[in-house]
Formats: sequence, C-alpha cells, structure tokens
Amino acid sequence: LPAAFVDAQQVLQVIEQHGYEAYFVGGSVRDTLLHLPIHDVDLATSAYPAEVKQLFARTIDTGIEHGTVTVRYHRHSFEITTFRTESGYQDYRRPDRVTFVRSLQADLMRRDFTVNALAMRENGEVIDLFHGLFDLQAHIIRAVGDPDHRFQEDALRMMRSVRFGSQLDFTIEPVTLAAIQTNRALLAKIAIERIHVEFVKMLLGRAPLRGLQQMLTTHLLDYLPVLNQSVKQLTEVVNRPLAQRLANETQVWSWLAVNLGWEAPQIQSTLHAWKSSKQLTGAVTNVTAAIHALLEQHVTNWQLYQTGATSLTDAAQVVVALGHPDQTAALQQRYQELPIHSKHDLAINGKQLIQAGIKPGPALGNLLNSLEHQVVAGTIANETTQLLAAAKQQSEANKAW
Ligand code: ATP
Ligand code: MG
Repeated sequence: LPAAFVDAQQVLQVIEQHGYEAYFVGGSVRDTLLHLPIHDVDLATSAYPAEVKQLFARTIDTGIEHGTVTVRYHRHSFEITTFRTESGYQDYRRPDRVTFVRSLQADLMRRDFTVNALAMRENGEVIDLFHGLFDLQAHIIRAVGDPDHRFQEDALRMMRSVRFGSQLDFTIEPVTLAAIQTNRALLAKIAIERIHVEFVKMLLGRAPLRGLQQMLTTHLLDYLPVLNQSVKQLTEVVNRPLAQRLANETQVWSWLAVNLGWEAPQIQSTLHAWKSSKQLTGAVTNVTAAIHALLEQHVTNWQLYQTGATSLTDAAQVVVALGHPDQTAALQQRYQELPIHSKHDLAINGKQLIQAGIKPGPALGNLLNSLEHQVVAGTIANETTQLLAAAKQQSEANKAW
C-alpha cells in the first residue's frame, strides 16, 4: 500500500475509535480495486465537520459548508467529507442545498456512477450498494439510479461518463448512453472550464477515439464550442487509428489542431473560447507548427532552436500518434548539437557591442538577432572575437546602405 494510504487507514481508525463511521470513497476505492495507481484519497464519515475537527490536532476548513475538512496527518493531507445528500440543482450543476446525514447509503446514492459509489472500510471490506463491483468487473460505466434524472440534476455527469469510459476503457451502459443523447442540450448550462477538464481527461485516456465517437453519436459534441463546427472532420478522425496515447494537454490540442487543419489564429481563438491559459495556447501554437515541419520532413536548425526541447518532444510524440515513424531521439540529438539554446548562450551581448563602438538603438537589436540566426545556422562560430568582427563588418555594411 502507498504511504498515503497507510496514513489514511490510521485517520479512519481514529474516527472509528470515536464511534463514527469512516470510509475510503470515490476514485481511490475504484482505482485500488482495479490495481491502478491512486492520486487522491477521499474519505467520507458520519461525523459532522465540527466533530471531525475535534479529533485531529491540525485541520483546515477547506469546504466546510459542503462538509469537507482537510486533516493533516503525519506528512499527508486528507479531505474528509461528512456524509451528505444534495438537493435543488436549479442550475443543472450545483445543488442548492447540501444536508449532512449519518447514513452512508444516502451519501453513496448521490454519487454519479456505480463504480464511483463504492466505499471501503479501513480493514479493506468493500461496501457495494449499487452493484459497483459487478460493473467494475464487467467494465461498465452506469449511472447510479435513473440516468435521465441524474443528468438533469448535473449535466456535467454526461461529460464525466464519456471521460471515465475512455480513462478506464469501460463501455457506457446502454440506458446511460441513451440518456446522454436525450439530455445533451443541458450541457449548454455547464461552464466551459468544467467541460474543458473532462474533455481533456477523456482524450488523455485509454480509449479516446471511442470517447470522441460517443460524443459524436450522442450529439453531445454539438455543445462543445468550436469543435461543434467540425463534426464531419471529427467523424473521419475517429476512424483513423491513434498509434500512441497522447501524453499531455498540449499534445491533445496540437493533435486536434493538425487533424482539423487549424492555423495559428484558429488555435488561438479556439483555446480562448475554451478559456485556456496563454501559456497553453503558446505551447500548442508552437508544437503545431513543429508538427507541420516534421510531417513535411524539413526542420531547419532555426525551427529546432525556436521550438525548444519540450515542444519538440511533444511535436515528435504527436507525429507518432498520427501514425508516422518516431523521430524523437534523432530530433533531440540534433537539438543538443545546436551551438546555442538561447540568446543567453550567445558569446556576445549588447553591452559588448556598445563598448566596441556600435551605437545603441534598434539597429543594435537587429544586429544581435542576426548574429543569433547565424550562430544557430552554423554560418558563424559562437566565439566572441569572431562575433565582434562580424558585428563591426555588418554594421559598417548597413551604414553604407
Ligand atoms: P479522478 O481519478 O479523476 O480523481 P474520481 O472518481 O476521484 O476520479 P472526482 O471528480 O475526484 O473523481 O470525484 C470524487 C468522487 O466524488 C467520485 O468518485 C464520485 O463518487 C463523486 N463525484 C464527483 N463528481 C460528481 C458529480 N458531478 N456527481 C456525482 N458524484 C460526483
Ligand atoms: Mg478524485
């Protein structure tokens, strides 16, 4: 068992020793039973938040109004959430009220899918009230209760169905899948940031093309900004094999950009519509340009230099995913062999040029850029005296013009 899990067991023991119930819940139970690595350990208890806080020396009121207290125990933090029921859901997303309850069953009933509605005691005993173990073994994503009702309560669950289907490589049970189609228009009520997270997790999963296919056949895809204008192209995309899993979000969007023929302005407007960071948008623009160069089998040293090591790896990996031979090692080799990797590596700077008698100003900046180009291209050595000589010569030549 991972160290965090052992500490969590002790936390559960402490709560139980004081007469309350306490369980592992959610993804950590599911992933443990599937022998998958677990990221965060969610705990649920019959103790009310104030009661939890009395049991531990160090606690943080993370989301106390929703019943969540963070407990620091040894060197780990655990979120402990009081059993609760939810009601309202006026906005198709967040419940209007949460009510703390003492019943585990009520807490498990509000959860989205049977495989996410398992609880596990500290001693490993599994509580399975909705046949989650059966679905886990049969590899099925099935809504807890009536899927229509559950998607009307929270429309994000439709995205979550497809996401877990891809992540776990599980099939969506037919009634649940049909309810996605029926309720798809409710996705319009959900904030793009929430949709974004699920969509990217889906494409990073084990069965991304099936996930995309399900989004197309249920027409959930019609409610995804920008992508809903490329239904025809996406239909072709799902029929082309993905030779390798995508490894990060930059790769996800770059893969889409290449498949859908997006140029830099479309990448920028799409990622803006999806409320992405400037950093991600920049990386995707950069990686997509590099992918095009790689597919045309013509990458100059200047392109290598400008792309940088991280983006080069992403580009090379997407090229593999698209079904082409792996060029990662050769590209990294070429990149390592570049004479410089940033302007800072240049054996000359603006100050030295000024000392050598070149006037400050925009022309000096251009001169430095030109030297940078020449060094990267290998037409001049990265050596101070040679660069100084070239700088003087080139600035004289410019004056003569
Ligand atoms: P991940 O590995 O992505 O963290 P997870 O199952 O832990 O998977 P979370 O989004 O972290 O997913 O949620 C934790 C648990 O809370 C879920 O397993 C599920 O029981 C419940 N849950 C989360 N979101 C919803 C929702 N929208 N509707 C109902 N239950 C939910
Ligand atoms: Mg989780």
